[in-house]
Amino acid sequence: MESDFIEKINRQFADSEPIEVLKYFLKTYKGKIGFASSMGAEDQILTEMIVGIDPSARIFTLDTGRIFPETYDLIEKTNTRYKINIEVYFPERDQVEKMVVEKGINLFYESIENRLLCCQIRKTIPLKRALQGLEIWITGLRRSQSVTRTNMQMLEWDKLNNLLKLNPLVEWDEDKVWNYIRKKNIPYNALHDKGFASIGCQPCTKAIKPSEDVRAGRWWWENPEMKECGLHLKK
Ligand code: SF4
Repeated sequence: MESDFIEKINRQFADSEPIEVLKYFLKTYKGKIGFASSMGAEDQILTEMIVGIDPSARIFTLDTGRIFPETYDLIEKTNTRYKINIEVYFPERDQVEKMVVEKGINLFYESIENRLLCCQIRKTIPLKRALQGLEIWITGLRRSQSVTRTNMQMLEWDKLNNLLKLNPLVEWDEDKVWNYIRKKNIPYNALHDKGFASIGCQPCTKAIKPSEDVRAGRWWWENPEMKECGLHLKK
């Protein structure tokens, strides 16, 4: 049933612009739809589009406790520019304290298990809290961002969180993203001008060379097939 509906919608909107897709979903699911912004370039485009359609739509982000100062600046700048108040979700204090006492403050460099645990406590669990009560969430994911995202569809069923996931920019490439940002003068993270492509937590993100894959600077010590934080894993 769910898969028939998803296929039908993906066919219906196959040639539609993201703005048309967003208009349909924000209206159809009003009160039951939310946008999880990571404050990345794609997310900033979606914020601009969403606010233009429905300024009361829910937009939230995660503060893991390890994000860059530049990302906090961007949250502030985005709120001012669009006259909104992005909801910020934090991890549970007890879980972070227990993890750090048992495994150390920079546990993620030690093993993939430790890295996934940190992502789970600082990202996945707060995201679940943010998604409570929603039937669908919007993301800025694109198919061409990495090898872990090549099969992504515009509308998908998110088994981990048990709700629909909408990826309006799934077909866009890097050039299209940056052309749109420049054309509309959309605020973006200052780190993008210093060689950072995909920006996450400070200890797990580094600048990349122009020839590298856009996600090469994330968890660079791991192999590419493992590079998801648990927010967008397929199970
Ligand atoms: S990206 Fe790094 S610091 Fe951030 S939650 Fe994941 S492991 Fe922890």
